Amino acid sequence: DPRLQGISEAIRVVPHFPKQGIMFQDITTLLLDHKAFKDTVDIFVDRYRDMNISVVAGVEARGFMFGPAIALAIGAKFVPLRKPRKLPGEVISEAYELEYGTDCLEIHVGAVQPGERAIVIDDLVATGGTLSAAISLLERVGAEVIECACVIGVPDVKSNLWIMRFIPNDMPFRD
Ligand code: 5GP
Repeated sequence: DPRLQGISEAIRVVPHFPKQGIMFQDITTLLLDHKAFKDTVDIFVDRYRDMNISVVAGVEARGFMFGPAIALAIGAKFVPLRKPRKLPGEVISEAYELEYGTDCLEIHVGAVQPGERAIVIDDLVATGGTLSAAISLLERVGAEVIECACVIGVPDVKSNLWIMRFIPNDMPFRD
């Protein structure tokens, strides 16, 4: 896809953020570039518009920067998956492992109806722990998770190639 190079070039890499040794992939520079930002959203929209998706779930915080635009364009609802104690209504929670300690995502009860077809959007997948928690949450409320999609897949950083990473339901890191 000829759009990928411009998207790649619009993402800034910040060495040693938030700590020594981490090469942080900064998508805020992509958001500043109208063409690259639109191309990014369009690639997702091209893929999902005819897949009968009614739920776009975005992972806090950077999934919120891409998910709503995709949801509007494909005629789906947007459902935020948030960090603990952010959602005011009744929630269900899913804890997941981090390198040091654990974290948690929450979804509003009633946001998704059983049988709805969902995709999960985030900016970046590394270990897949965050996406796995997102999938579990959605499945616990009865959604069918069709796919997860991220702007950046970390294995591609190593080869200096940026692609949109579409992870099928049988992704290797799922148990
Ligand atoms: P995982 O759970 O797959 O190990 O980590 C993915 C999560 O960490 C995503 O929610 C993503 O936003 C965040 N993350 C980890 N490293 C980076 C990075 O270098 N850049 C950005 N933008 N997000 C990161």
